[in-house]
Amino acid sequence: MLTETESRVLTLIEDHQTDLITSLQQMIRYRTVTPDMDACAEGDDYRAHQKYIRTLLDGMGFETEMWEIDAAQLEDAPGRGVRPERDMSGMPVVVGQLPGSVNVIARRALTTKQSPPAREEIASPPKAAARNDVSGKSLILNGHYDVVPEGDTSLWTHPPYSATIENGKMFGRGTADMKGGNAAMLFAVKMIQQAGLTLNGDLTVQIAPDEEATCMGTLACCLRGYTADAAFIPEPTNMGILVAMRGSVYGRLTVPGRAGHAEMAQPHWTEGGAVNAISKAAKVVQMLDALAEEWRTRPDRQHKYIGPDFILASGIHGGEWEVTYPEKAEIRFGAMIAPPRGNPIEEIRARLAELAQSDPWMAAHPPVLTHGPWYYGAEVAEDEPIVHAGANALSDLGIPPKMKGFGSLTDAIHLINLSKIPTISIGPDMETIHAVDEFIELAQLVELSKTIALLVMRWCGVSEKEQG
Ligand SMILES: [Zn+2]
Repeated sequence: MLTETESRVLTLIEDHQTDLITSLQQMIRYRTVTPDMDACAEGDDYRAHQKYIRTLLDGMGFETEMWEIDAAQLEDAPGRGVRPERDMSGMPVVVGQLPGSVNVIARRALTTKQSPPAREEIASPPKAAARNDVSGKSLILNGHYDVVPEGDTSLWTHPPYSATIENGKMFGRGTADMKGGNAAMLFAVKMIQQAGLTLNGDLTVQIAPDEEATCMGTLACCLRGYTADAAFIPEPTNMGILVAMRGSVYGRLTVPGRAGHAEMAQPHWTEGGAVNAISKAAKVVQMLDALAEEWRTRPDRQHKYIGPDFILASGIHGGEWEVTYPEKAEIRFGAMIAPPRGNPIEEIRARLAELAQSDPWMAAHPPVLTHGPWYYGAEVAEDEPIVHAGANALSDLGIPPKMKGFGSLTDAIHLINLSKIPTISIGPDMETIHAVDEFIELAQLVELSKTIALLVMRWCGVSEKEQG
């Protein structure tokens, strides 16, 4: 059931939706593509986007800060996936804090980007007052502003950064994933204020880079000490409630052989003969396939909302010359693992050792496993108040609430695992994300903004602004 106050805010969102749409168009027109791992942000679009966001937040009375991340300064731990070598310059984070009218926010001194916060500062985050105050709970609204590359522009019906509107849809890279969500949440706060309301609880907005690559933007926010009673991320979910997501690790298996001329008779390898690395690698691929097949049905590899854990041989390279025995073959793999299970590398390593023991050459020349950082998965219990709040907001707008899991991770992993903040996502349809002609339905954009407005008002509590 909607209160009269809530209906007033929803009507404002409906009536002023042109402003929401225009604001999203503005965001899309900044080309904020996630840089390749060995590259960094080129041009000024990232900073310009963040200045635009900061101006919006300043206009709503948020206390804002904007800083660039030094990845080498981020404290690492198992699951966080810190990439210290990643150049994060030129793609700043913007955080805004709006103290609740009822709470006295324990303000922290804003640090400059040149001086990362000291440990003590991290240990005493700004939320303490809000946590104990029953008058209004605190909330983080988080979104990423980086977008995946547009691919072949000629395949797009409209240029990917034109934010063209046609048949009730806005087309463009990032419309659904996830600038649409960002615009919807900022507009929701604006309309709450326009209705003459102030929030009782503290509200924090975080607009972070690099979710599509490393999640270090939000990680930096968590390490900086920002926290709240709950968090919300409007990532695309087909308007479902995202409560679980898989973690992942990517690696390589280098399988040795021994080079030799293919047109010459080769003695047995124990007598110095050549060995085909590709033939040995085939056994390794079969081992990975067998492991994936085992996980498909193994009880400890299942999750209620996500498919079974999965491992995939996703690339192979080997061989140099038509008549030369391949000296080595390299297999790339990705493993996707549901929470709360941890890093699967040791299980993969054990299987590899088992396989090597069954083959005398491999036993003497074992394949070498290397891997990138492990990203933990995350989930939130369905009886968490923020899950109920999301479900109620959807129900009251006539959308049946549906719990969901993701096969891949989002920035929520750090809010949940590191900051211990129950975090959910509700967002637009995901059919076109990361694809050509990505779009968001304008009606759904408005619906999402209404959903977020209800969630924010009910979670933080609202008071009529005193006249004067
Ligand atoms: Zn996203």
